[in-house]
Amino acid sequence: MKSRKKVSMKLSIVMLSMLVLMIGLFSYSMKTMSIKEAEQKAMMAANIVKMGLTTQMLHGTMDKREDFINQIENMKGMKGIWLSRGELINKQYGEGRKNEQPRDQIDVDVLKSGEIKVDYNDDLFSDATYRITIPYKAEEVGAINCLQCHDVKVGDTLGAISLEVDINHTKTESIDIIMYTSLIALFLIIFINIFFNRMMSPYVSIFDSIKDVMSEAEKGNYSGRLADEELNGEAREVAQWINTLLVKLQNTLSEIDSKVQIFLANNIKKDSDPLIEVKSTVTRLSNVYLFRQAIEHDEHLEELYDRLVTVLRNEFNLNNFNIYEMDTINKKAELVHAEKDVICNIAAGCRADRTSSIIDSCQYKNLCNKVNDQSTNYLCIPYTISNEIDIVLNIITDCDDSYTEVKANIPLIQDYIDAAKPEIVSKKLTQILERSARTDALTGLYNRKHLEETIARIVKEEKRLNISYGILMADIDHFKMINDTYGHDVGDEALRVISKTLQECVRDTDLVIRYGGEEFIVLLYNCDSNYIFDVAEKIRLSFSQKKIKAGGGETFSKTISIGGALFPDDSDSFWKVVKYADNALYYAKDHGRNQVKIVDDEMKKKDNLDNSY
Ligand code: GH3
Ligand code: MG
Ligand code: MG
Repeated sequence: MKSRKKVSMKLSIVMLSMLVLMIGLFSYSMKTMSIKEAEQKAMMAANIVKMGLTTQMLHGTMDKREDFINQIENMKGMKGIWLSRGELINKQYGEGRKNEQPRDQIDVDVLKSGEIKVDYNDDLFSDATYRITIPYKAEEVGAINCLQCHDVKVGDTLGAISLEVDINHTKTESIDIIMYTSLIALFLIIFINIFFNRMMSPYVSIFDSIKDVMSEAEKGNYSGRLADEELNGEAREVAQWINTLLVKLQNTLSEIDSKVQIFLANNIKKDSDPLIEVKSTVTRLSNVYLFRQAIEHDEHLEELYDRLVTVLRNEFNLNNFNIYEMDTINKKAELVHAEKDVICNIAAGCRADRTSSIIDSCQYKNLCNKVNDQSTNYLCIPYTISNEIDIVLNIITDCDDSYTEVKANIPLIQDYIDAAKPEIVSKKLTQILERSARTDALTGLYNRKHLEETIARIVKEEKRLNISYGILMADIDHFKMINDTYGHDVGDEALRVISKTLQECVRDTDLVIRYGGEEFIVLLYNCDSNYIFDVAEKIRLSFSQKKIKAGGGETFSKTISIGGALFPDDSDSFWKVVKYADNALYYAKDHGRNQVKIVDDEMKKKDNLDNSY
């Protein structure tokens, strides 16, 4: 219902209630007044009758009392008048005339009690009458001495006079007055309503309009405007202010939204209210900005990936996912983060990366044949970082509500990846440069610099996890002869063959280092002295069986000597253990070459030997 009607209705109800109350009060006071007036009239008439009768009594004309009473009865407004003889009179003079006996209970009561009694009938639809019965008591005042003739005491009730007065005229007068008053009041109500409507109309209609526009704005629609054409004066001014404000709000919101979206990969609308939408977009942007700032100050690529992992965990509630870094040139994949389960054999290829599309097993079962366990569901999202690098995010998820949430978050994750792109590229470049500084160009193995940098971690790990490292020192026997016989290039080839042999004979967790010239160190992760010997033997045998190309189809074989020691079992100083392995190597060289020696107490003693085999 429109406010105008509402206000008008409320006003009418209030005024009508007041009118009803007023009529009630008026009727009550009219009734009281008419009864009072009738009472006065009746009392006066009763006193006249009383005095008339007393006079008649004094003059001995009591037998004419009927005429007297009839005359009074004929007075205007008088409906009836009668006398009732008291018991004491009956006793002294007999019952007298029949019409002078009590006619009703009121007469009986008044004769008995000596008290005035009143009764009236003011029914709306019957005759309105007022009845009063007054006792006639014995007096002894001057000429009037009742006791002279009556055998009574002063104050005894001799009889009673009853009068019935017509009060119809006061009732009709009251009804007339009430009717006129109501009519005037009704006209007043209508007039006030019309006046109110005229005066309040612009304010009430602007209020209605504001209500409609604001209820739409509350739902996120700011396009509503107040209709100001029919308004005048202040109301029109207010409507125009509000409209200007709404236009400003709408334009500003859409401008902010379009400007902010430039910085984000996807325009995601989550809320129908542009104000809330702008707030969430700005929050999204500021989170991505903070992330970008943080990774800019990170030193290594690993830190950047750690930060991305934290975002995926905390902001996107992911709890089972893997991140792969793909080398698109060399077609290699590196697992840079594993949260829980590694479910695919990415070395065999990645469908998401190859097709540059999202691989979603919830939509198509067993989509990727590189996944080991097809009972798990996965979502693989490829991101292009540069011409050389792609990133694949492998999310392991159930195909339920969590899957829907993950899917909805994919564009938001893209924002973070986009923000990280330049940093991944530059940090990758730094990583490549750093790695090349720690890599031997001829063999592709890590160099001595890398070993020196790795020692601190190895020592720390040993202390924390109690992990032993086997250390092998390997040196090709009579290497100089290769150079001398076949030339330097063939010597280089022999170095490549031994490098490959070393890598083939150890696990991924082990580390092979070109220590210098034709000397190599192998760090065997988590092992005992038996294992060291076995691996060393495997290397020695394998190398001795390799055919090294000498050019022109000619091949030759060489042997290798290896010394081994165990860190921290042989010494808690890493470099001392390296020295012990070198002692064992020297021992092997000294005892005929092409053999493996694990350091013993005897060899350890040769600490000060000049190992210049
Ligand atoms: P031994 O059995 O006692 O170890 O004898 P050896 O000849 O292997 O020992 P030596 O240390 O006398 O010889 C090492 C040679 O390795 C000397 C050096 O010219 C050669 N050499 C060092 N680095 C390279 C390299 O990068 N390429 C080639 N072709 N030769 C190298
Ligand atoms: Mg040598
Ligand atoms: Mg040597």
